[in-house]
Amino acid sequence: MNFDGNHCVECGRDEFQLVNDSILKRKYPFVREDNLKLCINCGAKYIICDNCGNLFTRVHLSHEVPGVIDICMTCNATNNKVSQWVKFGIESFGNL
Ligand SMILES: [Zn+2]
Ligand SMILES: [Zn+2]
Repeated sequence: MNFDGNHCVECGRDEFQLVNDSILKRKYPFVREDNLKLCINCGAKYIICDNCGNLFTRVHLSHEVPGVIDICMTCNATNNKVSQWVKFGIESFGNL
């Protein structure tokens, strides 16, 4: 299903809980202990929007740059840390 900022793209459910994931925090500069949520049904992880609190973009260890969204689906806020990471990734690895 398409990502709408409220439902998990993997399973379509909308129940999430905050998680602290030290591996994802090390890998991604935009992951903090207070902005990472886990789908309690399937385990998919997302960061949430600092502005509105809805889901911002999916995060997983094998993420490629084009899979990361840097504008909130719900309120159109941008996340500068995500934008910088995407920009850096495109310059480093090309547009995969
Ligand atoms: Zn899910
Ligand atoms: Zn938002």
